[in-house]
Amino acid sequence: MKIVFVLTVALIGYTAALSGQASSRNMDFEKYDPVSTLVVPEHIVPRAKFPFIDVHNHQWDMPGGDLSVLVRDMDSLNMTVMVNLSGGSGDNIVRAARNIKTHYPQRFIVFANIEFKGIGENGWSEKTVNQLEQDVRNGANGLKIFKNLGFSVKDNEGRRVPVDDPRLDPIWKKCGELKIPVLIHTADPKSFWDEVDEHNERWMEIVTHPNRKRGADNPVPWETLIEEQHRIFRKHPGTTFIAAHFGWYANDLAKLASLLDELPNVVVEFGAVIAELGRQPQMARQFFTKYQDRILFGKDSWAPEEYKTYFRVLETADEYFPYHKKYHAFWRMYGLSLTDDILKKVYYKNALRIIPNIDKGPFPK
Ligand SMILES: [Zn+2]
Repeated sequence: MKIVFVLTVALIGYTAALSGQASSRNMDFEKYDPVSTLVVPEHIVPRAKFPFIDVHNHQWDMPGGDLSVLVRDMDSLNMTVMVNLSGGSGDNIVRAARNIKTHYPQRFIVFANIEFKGIGENGWSEKTVNQLEQDVRNGANGLKIFKNLGFSVKDNEGRRVPVDDPRLDPIWKKCGELKIPVLIHTADPKSFWDEVDEHNERWMEIVTHPNRKRGADNPVPWETLIEEQHRIFRKHPGTTFIAAHFGWYANDLAKLASLLDELPNVVVEFGAVIAELGRQPQMARQFFTKYQDRILFGKDSWAPEEYKTYFRVLETADEYFPYHKKYHAFWRMYGLSLTDDILKKVYYKNALRIIPNIDKGPFPK
């Protein structure tokens, strides 16, 4: 009798191993998704506590599109103003400004972009500065520089154009004169330059998006790009720069603090890096307290359902709650529980100060 029992148990164990379920020791990283057993208070925040300005958004059909769909989603989030960084230049700005003015004059701001083609040719800088001035007259309220500057922009002789190329100086200077901010995205997370192995925090992002992989010669080391960016900040103290994605120092706030201390013309926005802040609530709260006048709300990718993670990190004291993209963060979030005074600055007051022509009417004092 006893012998039969032992044999039955062994058979069950063997069958389970064959079917590869609970007893398996190996599992894909993507598949592992444990349900937390932690029981703590939860405060889902589908709508921001105060009306807010998203300074980092991309919409490509603004010249001709029906803006009412966007506005409906914005209203549900309490987003009063969306800053569309993908305004282009020339006719695109004219048409976008007209569409906004006709339908929702208080809800959208458009930034212009630079056409880098032809850089190095005679008169390129003058022509480009003139176009930017025209774009601002036509309704642009800022300049957005994409990460292609530093990565892939080449001059007329095929050479990489560094972010601090002197041929671009007249542009930065002109933005200071026009009193429009430059929102600039340079480089990418440092992990994209590191070995793609079990120690890399962005391993999953790199294997699922292989074209994001960078290297010392693809095109240059991370530090080189970041230094190029910081040099234009230093060289143009009369121009306000918004360093996109916390300047890729959201994971080293002490370093970012020293940069902000040195450069009063620089502010930051946290598009796509809220997961870095949500994993260090103590350090991040100190940073937001000290630099409460230097931080703007940005999100980047337009996915309305993802904003609630941002609101929850900023507003609540919740613990160990999920983030929405495993390839950005396989860790969980903690709320910073910022005060109302700080929230108001981050949600709208700082943007109202820095970006021209936003109607202050809808925002609390
Ligand atoms: Zn962006």
